[in-house]
Amino acid sequence: MLSISGTSVFSGVAFGPLRFLKSGERKISRVKIEDVDAEIERYRQATSEAVQELAEIYEKAVADVGEVNAAIFEIHQMMLEDEDYQDSVIGIIQTQSVNAEYAVSVTAENFAQIFSSMDDAYMKGRAADVHDISERLQRLLDPDSYEPLVLKRPVIVAAADLAPSETVQLERSMILGMITAEGSTSSHTAILARTLGIPAAIGAGPAVNASLDGKQAILDGFTGTLYIEPDEETTALMAKKHEEDVKRRQLLETLKGKPNVTLDGKEIDVFANTGSLGGIVDVLKNDAGGIGLFRSEFLYLESSDYPTEQEQFTVYKQIAESMGGRKVVIRTLDIGADKQVAYFNLPKEDNPALGMRAIRICLTRPEIFKTQLRALFRASAFGNIAIMFPMIISVGEVEQILEIVEEVKVELREMGMPFREDLELGIMIETPAAVMMSDELGKLVDFFSIGTNDLTQYTLAIDRQNQQLSQFYRPEHPAVLRLIEIAAANARKNGIWVGICGELGANLDLTETFLRMGIDELSVSAGMILRLREKIRSLDLSK
Ligand code: PEP
Ligand code: MG
Repeated sequence: MLSISGTSVFSGVAFGPLRFLKSGERKISRVKIEDVDAEIERYRQATSEAVQELAEIYEKAVADVGEVNAAIFEIHQMMLEDEDYQDSVIGIIQTQSVNAEYAVSVTAENFAQIFSSMDDAYMKGRAADVHDISERLQRLLDPDSYEPLVLKRPVIVAAADLAPSETVQLERSMILGMITAEGSTSSHTAILARTLGIPAAIGAGPAVNASLDGKQAILDGFTGTLYIEPDEETTALMAKKHEEDVKRRQLLETLKGKPNVTLDGKEIDVFANTGSLGGIVDVLKNDAGGIGLFRSEFLYLESSDYPTEQEQFTVYKQIAESMGGRKVVIRTLDIGADKQVAYFNLPKEDNPALGMRAIRICLTRPEIFKTQLRALFRASAFGNIAIMFPMIISVGEVEQILEIVEEVKVELREMGMPFREDLELGIMIETPAAVMMSDELGKLVDFFSIGTNDLTQYTLAIDRQNQQLSQFYRPEHPAVLRLIEIAAANARKNGIWVGICGELGANLDLTETFLRMGIDELSVSAGMILRLREKIRSLDLSK
């Protein structure tokens, strides 16, 4: 028995034959042509067929994996129609009098190299997309040389890497699991594998190659291990693991679509925390009622310069649309402390956790704040967006924020930009000061969301980043629980809703306590949603 280890991207156990999929290995010959114009026309024709195909794949992908994950196929259409790409192909055909296949393959190599050499991880990832669109063109230019990715029986798919268009071409009912030699946990392959809910591992190295084709295997998605021609002992062990997993999944599956309601009839919202567009897959898959915390600072962290209003608008709009009317609470940037971004040029501080962070940056540099607010308000026209502000300590801050919000609304109205007039504005309660002022603060906003991670840090005077202090960092400390209780009571007094979006919200031992305090919403990581639902449904608050 041979075993290969990769990085797990989705749990579960798959048993079956391996099918190694070759892609991008076609040999392209350079052929001299006579009629340059006809060759350019052939290329144009292939481009328009490719765009048409991608439009169809996009529709299929929207139905299968949702709009956010399908967006890549829209990007591919744009890349095919990109002027620089087209100029390069046509230029090569014209100047060298060569076949379109060759011109496309040279262009693909050049563009992929440019993308690969970029520092930005996102742009690096676009190299695979250039190869992908070029492959599509090659197939349309020369259909005879193309071997389609057809799966005739259920298999564990193995590949060097899979382009997004290849992944959706595959008949999903035939895929038992997926393992790739390359790829990252945030690659399209990984995202789509998670969406399909199949055991998958990536980055397993060169041992994943054509020699595996046809061999019997077991893929343990929990550990990312592939066992080739497994022995009896491993098979028995994996069979047991599989059985347990099936039972657990079945149990949790039955909870999808069910309300988060206690035995005595109290219903609460269970939302998800996420920080990226990719994370929405898990949010939807786990049946979250909404997003209770979208950490917008990840947009800034993943960027090498301030994300523009338009860039932010596109992301927020996509989130709002993919949540289909369910509430999406987007937190304004929480940069500073542990989330440092070089281009913000923040001064070096002795105590960054007590320093220039979050709303303090926004209020001292309103141009950055207003750009984000404009993007958020514009995106609110496309779904149910709410905005929340982090690290609040005073009434004065909130009044200042509300003034800036009014200015942004006036600007948008003047520009004729639509936005949601009844958009909810809330604050994070994550400092003891905010708790102590929560009665007054509750009169100014539409909701509170309690950030127990920072509330613990600032209440217990323990740096949440300091590993040496982890034994003292106790979010369930009675002092923290009392502060939560005070904030919840003041929310109720003011007739606004209150949620918990810190990690403590997922502590099932405290669910009952939180419900008794009058918490209306718990926002947790996607994987905890169904477990939390299970817990809520087992409680009886009348006792
Ligand atoms: C919190 O502080 O509890 C919180 C949810 O915010 P973050 O962890 O992003 O600081
Ligand atoms: Mg916080």
